Amino acid sequence: MSAPSIEQLREQCRGQVIAAADDGYDEARAVYNAMIDKRPMAIVRAANAGDVMAAVSFARDAGVDLAVRGGGHSVPGFGTCDGGIVIDLVGMRGVRVDPEAKTARAEGGATWGDFNAATHAFGLATTGGIISTTGVAGLTFGGGIGYLTRGRGLSLDNLVSADVVTADGRFLVASERQHEDLFWAIRGGGGNFGVATALEFQLHPVDQIYGGPMFFELDAVGDLLRWYREFIADAPEQFGGFPAFQIAPPLPFIPEERHGDTFIAFVSCWTGPVDEAENVLKPLRDLAPIVAEHVGPMPYPALNAAFDGLVPPGLQHYWKANFVTELSDEIIDAHLRHGPDVPAVNSTMHIYPINGAVHRVASDATAFGHRDANFATVIAGMWPDPAQNDANIKWVKDYSAATAPHSDEGGYINFMASDDQDRVRANYGANWDRLVEVKRRYDPDNLFHMNQNIAP
Ligand SMILES: Cc1cc2nc3c(=O)[nH]c(=O)nc-3n(C[C@H](O)[C@H](O)[C@H](O)COP(=O)(O)OP(=O)(O)OC[C@H]3O[C@@H](n4cnc5c(N)ncnc54)[C@H](O)[C@@H]3O)c2cc1C
Repeated sequence: MSAPSIEQLREQCRGQVIAAADDGYDEARAVYNAMIDKRPMAIVRAANAGDVMAAVSFARDAGVDLAVRGGGHSVPGFGTCDGGIVIDLVGMRGVRVDPEAKTARAEGGATWGDFNAATHAFGLATTGGIISTTGVAGLTFGGGIGYLTRGRGLSLDNLVSADVVTADGRFLVASERQHEDLFWAIRGGGGNFGVATALEFQLHPVDQIYGGPMFFELDAVGDLLRWYREFIADAPEQFGGFPAFQIAPPLPFIPEERHGDTFIAFVSCWTGPVDEAENVLKPLRDLAPIVAEHVGPMPYPALNAAFDGLVPPGLQHYWKANFVTELSDEIIDAHLRHGPDVPAVNSTMHIYPINGAVHRVASDATAFGHRDANFATVIAGMWPDPAQNDANIKWVKDYSAATAPHSDEGGYINFMASDDQDRVRANYGANWDRLVEVKRRYDPDNLFHMNQNIAP
């Protein structure tokens, strides 16, 4: 049988199929991390599940690489490939809310901005990431850590079902009642098992929150991290938030003469009664003088988009990540040594809390194995100028090497770099063997390998 042609694929698809000679090819092949410069054979801008089925079958039958792109945020650039097919879900971003059932169904290319805008109209939300341009599917399939994690679990803990196109081109609904093995695996196993054309989530009443960033001088780092360690262990679960090393951007709430200086910031999000918020934040306020702050009541989607301006598309990215059970004095020392050297205004280090509701789910109930860790750390190198690559990558690597001995094995796959493939197995711990088994069942030839790969 001869290999299928791009012309045949075009005839099968309702959405655009953009090949190298077509207008808009360079724009269509670009992903969020500008360090990634790949030239696919074609980008299929799917309009519906049928297009996805056609593109999956095309790549399989042609024997070429297949990349799947939702929000396009993958730091290792998994949303594109050289010479193969990219399924780009940018045209599938609809979100439908069922306010009675308190659920929302998002198409496979929706971003958290799309999702939050739709659910906020009903005073509802679920756990998503902290930047609104990140894709719902990619973030959820790897875990999903954000402001609501302590109270509502990971994004994947709120997943009710997903429509998935598998490697054989079938369209399956995965849930607790249908294809349960697939449903178990996609909740943590990343994009290894198929293309989600829609995801259905449980929602929760979250409307106005109280929060935002506070900036403290660097001499408060030790006190702040030690306070955070104690406070977050049993803080009310309506509290989400994280410390961050941050160079002050030129924003009006920061004194102009301090723009460009490095601070330890704390970003908080309180979803409980607004009149209780300041009481909860008081110990943080009492820690040290606050140089600048932008804290107050705001709609949840506003906080979710508050830092989008710091991470526009087109930056260079290199990240490392660790899970941490205990924020020990030794790891705090490592943060004290490396955090203040953050080299670019876009770069940062965050320590997200993942206790509370995350710990109430058994570690084998989903593929996400790190239910005992209390923190997920990300050292996120992001900078505009490729000439600065060496210096920025060095900062991330040195910082990561200093914290690794005091961290758990493995790391959050959504924050891991392209040179982290050898940590994937450790990331899944005891869930690894079952993941390989499900991979063999649904993708025995590893068609979906542009990801932190679980080889069959
Ligand atoms: C600026 C920024 C902020 C971030 N903030 C957070 C955060 O707050 N919390 C957090 O947990 N993570 C965060 N992340 C990490 C994020 O979760 C991962 O980068 C995630 O993989 C991005 O998903 P995406 O759909 O945007 O990316 P893509 O590059 O489109 O995809 C990433 C991976 O997911 C797969 N995938 C995407 N869509 C689908 C689909 N529909 N079906 C099947 N597989 C799919 C892809 O094949 C690929 O392997 C952030 C990343 C960035 C760059």
